[in-house]
Amino acid sequence: MEDRNNQAAEPLRIAFVGSECYPFVKTGGLGDVMYALPRALIKQNCDVRVLLPKYSCIPQKYRDQMVYRGSFMMDLCMDGKTFFVGIMELVMDGVTYDFIENEEFFSWGNPYTDLVADIPKYCYFSKAALAVLNYLEWTPNVVHCHDWQAALVPIYLRTHFANTPVGKAKSMLTIHNLRFQGIYGIPHIKYWTGIPGYVFDYPFMKQGKDDANMMKGGLAFANCITTVSQTYAGEIQTEFYGEGLDPHLRYHSVRMRGIVNGIDVELWNSRTDALLAAKYDENDVLEKKKANKLALQEKVGLEQDENKMVIGLISRLTNQKGLDLVNAAFAEMIDENTQVVVLGTGDVYYEDSFRYYESIHKGSVCAYISYNEALAHLIYAGADALLVPSLFEPCGLTQLIAMRYGTIPIVRETGGLKDTVQPYNKYTNEGNGFTFEDYDAGVFLNTVRSAKEVYFEDRESWDEMVKRDMAVDVSWEKSAKDYRDLYLQLSK
Ligand code: ADP
Repeated sequence: MEDRNNQAAEPLRIAFVGSECYPFVKTGGLGDVMYALPRALIKQNCDVRVLLPKYSCIPQKYRDQMVYRGSFMMDLCMDGKTFFVGIMELVMDGVTYDFIENEEFFSWGNPYTDLVADIPKYCYFSKAALAVLNYLEWTPNVVHCHDWQAALVPIYLRTHFANTPVGKAKSMLTIHNLRFQGIYGIPHIKYWTGIPGYVFDYPFMKQGKDDANMMKGGLAFANCITTVSQTYAGEIQTEFYGEGLDPHLRYHSVRMRGIVNGIDVELWNSRTDALLAAKYDENDVLEKKKANKLALQEKVGLEQDENKMVIGLISRLTNQKGLDLVNAAFAEMIDENTQVVVLGTGDVYYEDSFRYYESIHKGSVCAYISYNEALAHLIYAGADALLVPSLFEPCGLTQLIAMRYGTIPIVRETGGLKDTVQPYNKYTNEGNGFTFEDYDAGVFLNTVRSAKEVYFEDRESWDEMVKRDMAVDVSWEKSAKDYRDLYLQLSK
């Protein structure tokens, strides 16, 4: 009944502001969410516009589809320096994407470089996003901002833009990863933003003696704060996970909610996925997974044998992802019946250590050090298990994609991993994956051993779990409703 009323009502207008969005530019989960959540929201009677930088790395085929919507000059810095703002628009599957064009900021970087360059870039982007909404005369009910790159938006809304049409909008700031906050010296950020001096006081942006923290300021000014799982919402209020902002988050916790991410179940669909060697559903998964496994083994140079257990890892290679545990346990994880395939890029230390393991376990280990969407799909389909032993994990998407593809996740019980993977219980034959709590290589190794034991010695239970995982609802539907309800509350 409630839904029917909502369908009849005026659509809610939501502006998304963030630094990446699949399929234009993606380095991690933020890109997935910026793609999938707007698509899920339009089914919930929302009208969604996504504002993004027009980076030079956006593929030509999308640039060719963009239409010029206008341009203007915008002042930015404390000394009134002005910058060009161009608007290029593309409509895809009911979602409008407005790309902000400026050669000075977006003609290099992939999309990120380093803070020295990125801070001015995202100061410009945050202000330009609001200026574009005014220029287009499209006033949203809520401006939904994502991570530190858009964290100045709630501040601009209540300062520079307070008495303009967009100033009527409410703001929501979602934390996808608290580790990245946009911290730099006050004079630098003050100069680039042109934001009033009081915002650089302790309750807002100031941090330590001389620094300004864009995320901290955004959290103070946003009408609503969300993060991408309930467990992470609690964790970041503690010192261990709080990345220095735990007191600030505790102070603002009444405005904070945890809403778990989903995945786009059309994009991630083993029934239709053209990147697989064999498409499958719950009925033929066991057979077809073997075909995908053989194709994967061939592609990455592992010995082709459908009876070996293949363990995958698809990840940014940083310490957040629990790779110290994987490194420490690696030698003991491998045996004549177990193969490991790693797909990722990141810290040289981890890249080199995985290359090393490949060199000494040729045919059993593959370290594919690159970013490769197509290979990711084949690993999700061809591997038996996927490792996600993160030190912290705000939500995590790889475990959700794995489950959807009938690949059993092995995860640490933190953040969204804890909220989305129910531990396997051999007595009741329930659960979706293998989980552990302590950040300890021995505990991790034991968990991998438990998974191997079920795989090799109780295949029937393993296969039942494969089918159970494929049936789990990992779509955006429920969470998109939760977001819509929050938008509604905010805009009342
Ligand atoms: P994070 O956002 O912290 O990087 P998530 O689990 O939320 O982690 O999202 C990671 C997303 O990026 C998933 O869609 C995953 O498939 C993808 N991904 C990560 N590394 C690679 C890679 N090397 N090649 C292809 N896709 C990758």
